Amino acid sequence: MRRGPCATGAWCAINLDRMRCRWVTSIAEVLAPVTCAACGVPGTPLCPRCLAALAAPGWPRCDGCGCPQPLPVGRCPECRPSLARARQAAAYEAVAAAVMRGLKDRGRRDLAVPLARLVVARCPPPPPGAALVPVPLGPRRLRERGYNQSDLLARELAGRWGAVTAAGMLARVREEPPQRGAGRTARARQASGAFATTWRGNLPEEVWLVDDVITTGATLGACAAALRRAGVRRVCAVAVARAMRP
Ligand SMILES: [Zn+2]
Ligand SMILES: [Zn+2]
Repeated sequence: MRRGPCATGAWCAINLDRMRCRWVTSIAEVLAPVTCAACGVPGTPLCPRCLAALAAPGWPRCDGCGCPQPLPVGRCPECRPSLARARQAAAYEAVAAAVMRGLKDRGRRDLAVPLARLVVARCPPPPPGAALVPVPLGPRRLRERGYNQSDLLARELAGRWGAVTAAGMLARVREEPPQRGAGRTARARQASGAFATTWRGNLPEEVWLVDDVITTGATLGACAAALRRAGVRRVCAVAVARAMRP
């Protein structure tokens, strides 16, 4: 057996062919130090500087959707009627977009812990008895990604808030292409009727939907409508970030 650098440049004791060299590369990737998903600084999935850059939504806020509005009380005209209340830890800006790309597109499951911590620090907890329900992915997206980022967040939040999760309460029954770049009306049309309840057990009085990012609220509105049709009396939502209206 020769020892030395293999075809991919990694030093190893089994440099017989490229196949084995790929193994060495894969192991090196697993052992690679964790880096900040937004700026690449090593040592943490989300460094203190980038965490501080995730700015909370401004004040005063709408009682319903939690977005900044001129009036100190009342609901804004953009609120989804099916959602009793929505809260988000941060405004969806450049750093939040980079972090969410990591969580959704780059396999950075390790972001669920610091992001759940941020939500718990900035959003009020659900009342006792409320169930956390992650916004479901369709089977195709779930297969491609290997995990549902909202499910990871819901589990982390449930642990910190002492709440229960009920991921099986809602299913995506119609899978549409990704909504990125779609307008408000197009998103509402795509989301309408895309979710159904599949729950056989007792329904909780209150459900808190968990999502990573709220863009127009169309997906959450459709989820809430399905839960309300099934008999849930009050549906709220909590997310890490939300695109704020100008
Ligand atoms: Zn950073
Ligand atoms: Zn509102």
